[in-house]
Amino acid sequence: MERFKTTHQHGSTALLSNVRICVICVIMACSATCGISQDSKNLAKGSNPSPEEMQRFSSVPNFEWKEDKNGIKKGYFTNLNPRTKHIKRAAWWEVARFYLFKPKNAKPKSPLPFINTNLKTLHTQNPAFVWFGHSSFMLEMQGFKILVDPVFSNYASPYPWINRAFASHIHWGKENFDSIDVLVITHDHYDHLDYPTIIALKDKVKHFVVPLGVGSHLRFWGVDSQKITELQWWQSLKLTPSITITSTPSQHSSGRTIEWDRTLWSSYVLEMAGIKIFLSGDGGYYTHFKEIGEKFGGIDVAILENGQYNEAWRFSHSFTNEVLQAAIDLKAKMIIPIHYGRFVSGSHAWNEPLKNLIALCDGANIPISVPMLGEVYDFTTPPKREVWWDF
Ligand SMILES: [Zn+2]
Repeated sequence: MERFKTTHQHGSTALLSNVRICVICVIMACSATCGISQDSKNLAKGSNPSPEEMQRFSSVPNFEWKEDKNGIKKGYFTNLNPRTKHIKRAAWWEVARFYLFKPKNAKPKSPLPFINTNLKTLHTQNPAFVWFGHSSFMLEMQGFKILVDPVFSNYASPYPWINRAFASHIHWGKENFDSIDVLVITHDHYDHLDYPTIIALKDKVKHFVVPLGVGSHLRFWGVDSQKITELQWWQSLKLTPSITITSTPSQHSSGRTIEWDRTLWSSYVLEMAGIKIFLSGDGGYYTHFKEIGEKFGGIDVAILENGQYNEAWRFSHSFTNEVLQAAIDLKAKMIIPIHYGRFVSGSHAWNEPLKNLIALCDGANIPISVPMLGEVYDFTTPPKREVWWDF
């Protein structure tokens, strides 16, 4: 497809192994009795790039080869921060504490309010945003639809008893879309790349834009490789004459099994009709936000991860004060927070990150827009601030 030509734009307390084995044994034992077929669990895990496919990443600056204990060379992506090239996994007791001692209001007492927008007929003059909870959302302009990290399943794991979504009165799925122009994935974690959603949507998607290596999962699930563009950091792709997407760094990790960091993780900058939109994906705070802000001369709307933080995984998810600092570094004119409101992977009340970020933004005089689920927010209009989250 001619218009999808790629161009370079800007140059360039591990889990103790015995504990891990125990956890895997428990998972295998439980999953054998929970009614999910072995086939679908294995399919959901996807397929990392083969060693041969990884050869093409050898020249990527944040990629390295390491020998395992059997002397076999394996390729891994890395972070910019030399102290956290590979983010240390949380200690097993920290993970156990997270699962055993969640705050009472980690999930809301009642379903979140929503607006049941007809996505098929949506046609706005200016770039607009529709949120589906957690990190799933759509950007739309004049009928052109970009779907980001869609997870329409009720759980973000291969097992329905792990990471179940909040109770909801609304469910989105393939029936809500006639076609999707571009589906963007930020990284391959289950709460961002959902096997059942990809299977349901893949024939309606015209093109996929994913970080290096993530195309391997999509091909394994039957997506035509002609429809996939993998981007490394700072690579751009023109989607239409007025819409360009650029992959930018983030500080995170990847992996759908015990094999970590074999595919890349990204943030993106989308330029839509002159409006610069930053999509954070997941990630901890580091110097890359400042670099992105400088290279793009500021950002108009920063759609930022805000939630699921924990001291034990502070390098892979930002605390709220760091989210504000990221917005300042990006020179963002407005924030839309995401990564909350559907799944629990942090030890805080479900709405704590949102309330805290609003207070911080108001103090710093940075506009923050908080549309409810399904609500259309046109970026050229004043921020949405009706309070729907106070319960
Ligand atoms: Zn993640």
